[in-house]
Amino acid sequence: MQTLSNPVAQSAAEANPAFDTTIHRRHTRPVKVGSVTIGGGHPVVVQSMINEDTLDIDGSAAAIRRLHEIGCEIVRVTVPSMAHAKAIAEIKQKLSASYQAVPLVADVHHNGMKIALEVAKHVDKVRINPGLYVFEKPSPTRSEYTQSEFEEIGEKIRQTLEPLVITLRDQGKAMRIGVNHGSLAERMLFTYGDTPEGMVESALEFIRICESLDYRNLVISLKASRVPVMLAAYRLMVQRMNESGMDYPLHLGVTEAGDGEYGRIKSTAGIATLLAEGIGDTIRVSLTEAPEKEIPVCYSILQALGLRKTMVEYVACPSCGRTLFNLEEVLHKVRAATQHLTGLDIAVMGCIVNGPGEMADADYGYVGKQPGYISLYRGREEIKRVPEDQGVAELINLIKADDRWVDP
Ligand code: SF4
Repeated sequence: MQTLSNPVAQSAAEANPAFDTTIHRRHTRPVKVGSVTIGGGHPVVVQSMINEDTLDIDGSAAAIRRLHEIGCEIVRVTVPSMAHAKAIAEIKQKLSASYQAVPLVADVHHNGMKIALEVAKHVDKVRINPGLYVFEKPSPTRSEYTQSEFEEIGEKIRQTLEPLVITLRDQGKAMRIGVNHGSLAERMLFTYGDTPEGMVESALEFIRICESLDYRNLVISLKASRVPVMLAAYRLMVQRMNESGMDYPLHLGVTEAGDGEYGRIKSTAGIATLLAEGIGDTIRVSLTEAPEKEIPVCYSILQALGLRKTMVEYVACPSCGRTLFNLEEVLHKVRAATQHLTGLDIAVMGCIVNGPGEMADADYGYVGKQPGYISLYRGREEIKRVPEDQGVAELINLIKADDRWVDP
């Protein structure tokens, strides 16, 4: 849980919860994935997935390293066959020898029990999709599932899941039960419909099997390509888990979000909405772009919500008729000079009429004062007025004088 650093805000929040500006994260158990921990109050973990063929050992190892170097903390690889599962052993070895042991997750698909058992030896977490793990081809003539048919398949799932659960449990490794709205099992579709409830029941069926074998290193996801469906599924999952005393961390994502601006906005709408409610312990933004493009989006979501601070927070006004300089240009210059000072909040405001009041408690402010002049602020205190063309250099001097500067 985050703590409020501002005592005024804290007492206001105590007097009226509607004033509370803190995100109270849902309590979850810690689940270790290699050197990274998901849940248990740890910072929200960023993950992504490479799109190389796993049989391409060198290409996959290089792609995993590239992602890890830019901040992807857990990397997923797909394992469609036994050969791919074995290739992961080599990828892992290569990474350890030439770089470091990056936490890896293997994605197992249709009827992937044997593959999962092999790959579980080499990775830190196995992701299974309940709709595909025991896959029965949908029958076009079927009109219902009787209770006994439903239970018979449930038993088959138990038998197929058991060996994987046992090996992961005994190795202290993790499993993601990753439900996808688009690939619900036919018997779930018949019983619960194409609904968030069907998604949640799918996950619960697998969770109960794991719990019966005393295995709880679980992370749950309920992704959908439609944001309202995804939101409803995660919220219902939280409700059901609360009712059952379960505290598994959640992996958030919007599937098939697409690319470009809309893909980013759609992912953010789903992921950030839940994070703001305290739901979610690890995130993946799925874009139809190079996976490296996903990482900055993840960090921007977390930074905007105050959940992680990985860059300078810039507060800037949109500019208006009162603006005394080219705000866009100045913001670019300020950013270019200071973007390596992670942890600072810097405001760039167009005028002194509203600027100082709206700097949102930034550490430093750069505010239009009068034509040709700007004022530099430390917090709410005006420090000095300088000619506009010296503004950025003087801002740097001020930060240096405060001993908060580091060289890029
Ligand atoms: S801070 Fe001043 S310049 Fe910027 S939008 Fe507000 S009134 Fe306009």
